[in-house]
Amino acid sequence: MPNIAENLSTTALLHPDHPALRFGELVVTYAELDTAASRVAGTLRAEGLAAGDRVCVMLPNVPAFVALYYGILRAGGVVVPMNPLLKKREIQHCLTDSGATRLFVYEDVAQEATAAAAETGLPLTTVGAVLTPPGEQGRIAAPSPRDDGDLAALLYTSGTTGTPKGAALTHGNLGRNAEILADHVVRITDEDVMMACLPLFHAFGQTGSMNLAIRRGACLLLVPRFDAAEVLYMLREFGVTIFVAVPTMYNALLHEPPVTTGPEAGVLRVCVSGGAPLPAEVLHGFEKRFGCAVGEGYGLSETSPVTTFNHLDRPRKAGSIGTPIQGVEVRLVDEAGHDVPAGEVGEIAIRGHNVMAGYWNRPEDTAEAIPDGWFRSGDLARQDDDGYFFIVDRKKDVIIRGGYNVYPRELEDVLYEHPDVLEAAVLGVPHTSLGEEAAAAVVLVPNARATEEELRSFVKARVAPYKYPREIWFLPSLPKGSTGKILKREIQLPR
Ligand code: AMP
Repeated sequence: MPNIAENLSTTALLHPDHPALRFGELVVTYAELDTAASRVAGTLRAEGLAAGDRVCVMLPNVPAFVALYYGILRAGGVVVPMNPLLKKREIQHCLTDSGATRLFVYEDVAQEATAAAAETGLPLTTVGAVLTPPGEQGRIAAPSPRDDGDLAALLYTSGTTGTPKGAALTHGNLGRNAEILADHVVRITDEDVMMACLPLFHAFGQTGSMNLAIRRGACLLLVPRFDAAEVLYMLREFGVTIFVAVPTMYNALLHEPPVTTGPEAGVLRVCVSGGAPLPAEVLHGFEKRFGCAVGEGYGLSETSPVTTFNHLDRPRKAGSIGTPIQGVEVRLVDEAGHDVPAGEVGEIAIRGHNVMAGYWNRPEDTAEAIPDGWFRSGDLARQDDDGYFFIVDRKKDVIIRGGYNVYPRELEDVLYEHPDVLEAAVLGVPHTSLGEEAAAAVVLVPNARATEEELRSFVKARVAPYKYPREIWFLPSLPKGSTGKILKREIQLPR
């Protein structure tokens, strides 16, 4: 089975002079990246890092992230990537929960991390975008042998509730997920230029862009911050062939005025969406404007992450997350873990190479998440007669209105069909007799004039009477997480 630590070294042998990373004007070849990773490994080993030690990395999408990630793996360490925007308390949680032995932090965001590391007594190294120290001073180490079952990364995720837990992913988990996607699903070649605008500290960006590109010797274009106008410009300017993003990014690009009169993204050949539902309107609008197929996939941090995909060589279905990727099984189960009858809604349960070893140091949470060898995702779905899965909603987001289940996702999809709606999120609000009621938070496209009454009637005409949102609130923007996903729980309705 492929081992993620060898992902870079194998490619560097095959394509030493090929561009591995592009960051603004800077180009790093595979040989240079491999040397930088070896120097990180050498330094860490010289400083006493033992196999299995956790090392936190708090950097945006800059070349140093990639060198540290592969350097830590090569030294036998476990990478704990963290969002560079975390505050002291959150950083401390990751440091102590993971039992990290050291922390690398990006120089521009070092303040909170420095305070957190000082209190925990952890050695901290500040690094710039391009790794010089400690790389230049390090010694090249022989790779530390790692087995497929050894841990490679702890990805902190809130899961369904509460404080972030570390999803413990093994070398086999990450290596195999990258192999299947790069070789069989997206079919990447060394000619490809892949844009990395999703954060690499998150599972989707990490596997979906970084590990895939490196496996096949493609060039990874590092974008530290998503700005729709800039990304639109870069797609064309840098000849991007593969674009991996979340639906809010597709939506933002779709509504961005063209930056050129010529073809907007001439060489784009594959687009991948995941992380949240891709509204059919956005899918079709994007494909029409940019002339490139968008494949929607599904997964979680706990599943390395990719689980299903709308495979590009089979009919794609809008609104579907497709079918399981090779080596992964998906079932829809009820509370007792039994298969639901065909066509009915059940919780997605996953088994395969991609399922994490467990939550780091949390045996009870692990047993709850994987009670019988099948990982419970917390997502509800239906399967059609062709075997395609359709996410209905997250289990915890379902609104129960007077005993009826109302799935916010269905109402959001309808709202997105309205030409004046830029973004929409439907939430449950308390109701004295019904328990809960649906309310929608909507961001209108600039200069649009739709009224609350108009949108309410629009949805009412398209769904059963118990479902449509009684309240519609216009907001200037919706809160988003680090990956660009809409954070429903942080939406404050001005009611
Ligand atoms: P994370 O662990 O941060 O990657 O979040 C995983 C969650 O994202 C899943 O449990 C789903 O709720 C959601 N998700 C991922 N992909 C999709 C998709 N294609 N459609 C709907 N929800 C998705």
